[in-house]
Amino acid sequence: MKRTLVAEAGKKVGESIKVCGWIKTYRSHGKIIFVDLRDISGVLQVVILPELPSEVLEIAKNMRTEWVVEIVGKINKRPGGTQNQNLTTGDIEMTAENISVLSEAKTIPFDINTDGYEVNEEMRLKYRYVDLRRERLKRNLIFKQEFLHFVRTFLKDRGFIEIDTPSLTKSTPEGARDFLVPSRLQPEKFYALPQSPQQYKQLLMVAGLEKYFQIAKCFRDEDPRADRQAEFTQMDLEMSFVQEKDVRDLIEELLIETVRVVAPDKKIQEIPFPVITYQEAMEKYGIDRPDLRKDKSDKDLLAFCWIVDFPFFEKDKEGEWTFTHNPFSAPKPEFIDDLLKKKNIEKILTTQYDIVLNGWEIGGGSIRSHTPEILEAVFEIIGYKKDRIKSSFGHMMEAFGYGTPPHGGIAWGVDRILSILLNENSIREVIAFPKTGDSRDLMMDTPSAVDSKQLEELHIKTVAPKKK
Ligand code: ASP
Repeated sequence: MKRTLVAEAGKKVGESIKVCGWIKTYRSHGKIIFVDLRDISGVLQVVILPELPSEVLEIAKNMRTEWVVEIVGKINKRPGGTQNQNLTTGDIEMTAENISVLSEAKTIPFDINTDGYEVNEEMRLKYRYVDLRRERLKRNLIFKQEFLHFVRTFLKDRGFIEIDTPSLTKSTPEGARDFLVPSRLQPEKFYALPQSPQQYKQLLMVAGLEKYFQIAKCFRDEDPRADRQAEFTQMDLEMSFVQEKDVRDLIEELLIETVRVVAPDKKIQEIPFPVITYQEAMEKYGIDRPDLRKDKSDKDLLAFCWIVDFPFFEKDKEGEWTFTHNPFSAPKPEFIDDLLKKKNIEKILTTQYDIVLNGWEIGGGSIRSHTPEILEAVFEIIGYKKDRIKSSFGHMMEAFGYGTPPHGGIAWGVDRILSILLNENSIREVIAFPKTGDSRDLMMDTPSAVDSKQLEELHIKTVAPKKK
């Protein structure tokens, strides 16, 4: 007999069907046993009556919650007054005819029939495969798929090509520390995991692909932060022959449409999204990611805004110039001359635009420098010597010499947007297997020590950190 999902059982009243899943609840009422059986589609009440053959009753008596079972039985309408409005299958039940146990289960470490906020999070992360059985987390993951599916379809319909780029790449300065991967075949050399696909997507523009996007994994080795993930997902996009407003308009339409389709209960406070300069934002709100919601108690209100006209450079702790966002950004056209002459550096504005939602910077992008001279000038301002520019970015300079369209793009942090749309406080609630704030995977118990032989092959010796 083929398996039926419990959500389909309502169409089979009067028939015998087979269902498979986990025992969500188990209640023994004297001679009758009630089991709620959970599968991916929902929950079905199964009634186990005393007239079943003794070997089936024996199995039924011994079953416990979270065991995985296969039950064959007849689907009946529930008697009047016993319907359960809380279940999608609440007006039917199954009368068991046969039961097989597919897998027994130890007592699970915490209750999964609640939303789970009350459970210690380290425990939830250690036993994430159990935690994910929770209805709320299942809903979050399915919502994420709906969201990404909509984004993909929207962009494909507008001529964007989804292209994946390498995870083993070159160390690049994007403001955070790189995760390094030692090369075995090229001793003493390293790959870096991408902080973002920034250079690849620009090279795809040089390649003439014109409209690229990717749901990309990015890696940043940042200091512990409660709600950051070392590994996170970006919706990354790049387009040729565009100016700032073209990218912003497209992204604005995409965000509005996505909210309308996948989160129809949400209300966007203002359309078109307000566009605020960095200077205005700092003067008026004292922050470059203002929360513009008029009513902060309304959980369904979304206040998007754009922040534009950021300074290109700022001084770092050592008093040297560094970029505020992205070294590949172009200056605003009126500052190109100053940039090339390296004067009035503090006044140079970049084409960077950030998209802010309810006080969170959810993404950002810019129009890029597409001539080698401008890019070189940026690196010189931030103190790179010619040979470092060549070894780190020679490939970009060279590529830009072979016919490069003006181009620009953006990336958003998918997890943050999802957590806002789902009213979750933490991005960990929308990631299947998140890490802790200090980047440990408690389930896999990693990072972990490796075999000395592996290190030898990689030509690596470790040095224990000095005791503080
Ligand atoms: N690469 C940038 C980032 O990850 C986004 C962009 O400028 O497209 O923040």
